[in-house]
This record gives sequence, structure tokens and C-alpha cells, in this order.
Amino acid sequence: MPTLNVRDALSDAFCNRNRCSFLNRQLSSIPYPMWYVFCPEPALCRAAGGSTVKSVAKLMHSRQKVGILGATGMVGQRFIQMLENHPWFEVAWLAASDRSSGKRYRDAARWKLDTELPENIGNMLLSPAVPDDAPRVIFAALDSDIARDMEPRFAAAGCAVISNSSAFRMQPDVPLVIPEVNSDHLRLIEEQAWRKQSGGYIVTNPNCCAIGLVMALKPLEQRFGIESIFVTTLQAVSGAGYPGVPSLDILGNVIPYIRSEEEKLEEETGKLLGKLIGNHIEHLPAKISASCNRVPVEDGHTESVSVKLRTKATREEILAAWHDFAPLEGQQLPTAPEQPIEFVTAEDRPQPRLDKMRGRGMAATVGRLRPCNLLDWKFTVLSHNTIRGAAGAALLNAELLVSLGKLTPTAILV
Ligand code: NAP
Repeated sequence: MPTLNVRDALSDAFCNRNRCSFLNRQLSSIPYPMWYVFCPEPALCRAAGGSTVKSVAKLMHSRQKVGILGATGMVGQRFIQMLENHPWFEVAWLAASDRSSGKRYRDAARWKLDTELPENIGNMLLSPAVPDDAPRVIFAALDSDIARDMEPRFAAAGCAVISNSSAFRMQPDVPLVIPEVNSDHLRLIEEQAWRKQSGGYIVTNPNCCAIGLVMALKPLEQRFGIESIFVTTLQAVSGAGYPGVPSLDILGNVIPYIRSEEEKLEEETGKLLGKLIGNHIEHLPAKISASCNRVPVEDGHTESVSVKLRTKATREEILAAWHDFAPLEGQQLPTAPEQPIEFVTAEDRPQPRLDKMRGRGMAATVGRLRPCNLLDWKFTVLSHNTIRGAAGAALLNAELLVSLGKLTPTAILV
């Protein structure tokens, strides 16, 4: 059980192990990280030294140690930035390729973000990319070819691998998750052989374009149903990693091809909006056609979307569906945006430069809702590709896993 460490720590310190049924019930029902355990059975409680002194045990948590695979890349850097001062997680291990292994992070990585590289991270040595001394929670930001071989090794060694790569997104027993959209799909991890053998598992987040698109579509699917989707993307250069697209190819230009991107966007949308039936996902039975383009924008993917609905909807009904969409409300996940979908009324928005940081980079911004002459409605959606589309997506998945008791937190007692 994911809460075993906490339970054991408490039991060792305060309670007669295996006898405190109150504790066992309580820990599974109180959301982490607000575990304050009030033991009503003082007779069963004893302090670590053996004397019965405490009737109330207050449990605090230390930050969960996490590792980053692919820590030197574009997404790896975002992880480092987003995990600095994170209330639940602490970066304790970094790894990248053999080229970087053994170097200090500041010497191995070309830091590209507009905040300072945290001092402690800059001084950390990059470990070999093997699970031996890695923490049990791994954020993975590897190219898919490498991830296909490497992520299972970490899962088999008992790690929760929260992956950005496409390698396992479409594998039937691997959840592909956006917390606001399909958190119930996380149940699939219990089907994984790694989980059964070592406790480890792989959870994935979608392609950076699929995230913004599906966030905008989910409320429409819920209220009206979706029959078909036509989407054209304008994707930022940071989506290709570092150094990515050569400047002479992209400056003053548009490249109307991104390898495998259209296929990913089409199939991942179907899985994300699909239904969990038993132990498999029934994909959304909607037709979807995607065209993907690389444009000379630094960060932020823009998408023009047309959609045909199963039942007709007015403009006001669509706006209400987006406005009311707040599936994580009250869960207090630190990285979740307050308003997952922000609608902008100005006729020339959303724009990457002006709107990519809405919701601290975690919101999908929609605008330009208008009737479509071919399908029913069309609109524009924008999301930050390395925050909402990558590191932030994985971080939110990890926070959701914590809240569901599927990561093992360490605990201290005060
Ligand atoms: P990137 O900038 O090219 O970084 C790749 C990382 O992988 C680097 O840390 C690199 O380390 C490491 N690496 C390379 N070969 C390795 C090996 N053999 N063993 C261990 N580590 C190795 O790529 P990225 O943009 O961060 O993307 C990472 C993943 O996230 C990809 O699967 C990508 O499709 C996905 N993704 C990216 C975005 C985005 O907007 N960029 C969005 C969503 C998903 P070295 O520095 O040592 O070479």
C-alpha cells in the first residue's frame, strides 16, 4: 500500500502495530498532505520509547524525494524550475545521458529558462541513468526511443515513473492522463506487471498539443458529445527540445511537418476522452483530423479547432461549459490552475506572447469562438508547451497520485 511508510512510522512511534484500526482507516481517508491523526484510543498508543504518553499524534510530512531523468533538456529544466520550493516534492537525484553523467549540473546543462538555476541544483552531480540509487519517484523527460528502453527498468525496480515521452502513452495498461480530464484512468496502473511485481509503474501525460486541445474539448464532450474534430496547430520551437529546429530553418518561416505529431494528436485525443470500461479504455468514437506546423514562436502552442457536436449548443452554452469546468476544485493540488480553461473575449486573442502564462502556465486559454461553416463551432486554444504541455502536466499527475495515495510519502512525526 502506498501509505505504508506513513502508517508504519506512526505505528512504530505511537501505536500498537496492527491493532490500531482507527489509524488504518484514518490514513486512507485523509488527503495527503494534511494528515493530522487524532488517535482516540490512548491506551493503544505508546511513544517511541515505549511509554504511553500521547493521545494525539500529529503527523507532518517531509518532502518526497524525487529524481529527474533527462534533467538537462528543455523539459528537464522546466521540472527543476517548477520543483524549486514545491511543497510536496524535493529534487534529490538528476540523470541524463552518459555525456553528462558525473558532471555538475551547471557544467552539463545549458540553462535556458528566465529564472536563475537554483544553486543547490547547479552543484548536484548527475548520476548514471540507472535505478540503483534513484528515488522511488521519477519524472522522466527522455526522447521516446530512449524512454522505451529505460523507463521500464525504473518501473521494474519499484519506481513510479511519471513520463513525458510518447513511448508508452498508447500501451493499453498505461494511463495517459490529464488530471482535469480523465483521472479515473489512473486505475490502469494496477494492471501493470511492474506494479504487481515491484510496486513500480508508468504514468504518462499527453503530447503537448493534445493537452490544450483536450482540455478545451472535455467540457464540450461532457455536455454535448463530440462527433468530429478538425485541428490545425502552430507549434513553438521549444517543443522540439534543445537545440531543436535549426534557426536557419525556422526564422521567418513555417514548417508544415512535425514527424509523427499528427498521428499522436489524433490517437491520444481518442484515448484521453475515452471511457475506462473494466480494465481497458474505450476510445472516443469521434473522427479527428490534425495538421501540425512548426512556427517561429519560442513557447506556447496555438491550435485552430473546429468541432461537430452530437447535440446542438449555443455560444452561451459552450461558454458556460468552459467556465464551469473545475474538476479539481477543492483538491488543493499545488500545481493545478484555479481556472483550467480561461476564455478571452478580445477578437485577436489568445496569443502565445500574451497568454501562455495564464494560470502560471497551467491554463488552456480559449478565444475566437464562432460558428463554423463546415462543422458546428470553431475556436482557438493556446497552452504553454513545456509547462502545461510537459513538466507541469507530469507534476500535476504526480500530485494527483499523491492525493490518491499512490505515491509513497515519507513521514516525520512531531
Ligand atoms: P531535449 O531537450 O532534447 O532533452 C533530452 C534529455 O534526454 C536530455 O537531458 C539528454 O541528456 C537526455 N538523454 C539523451 N540521451 C540519453 C540517454 N541515452 N540516456 C539518458 N538520458 C538521455 O528534449 P525535451 O524537449 O526535454 O523532451 C523530452 C521528452 O519530453 C521527449 O520525449 C519529448 O517528446 C517530450 N515532450 C517535450 C515537450 C516540449 O515542449 N519540449 C512537450 C511534451 C513532451 P544530455 O544533455 O546528457 O544529452
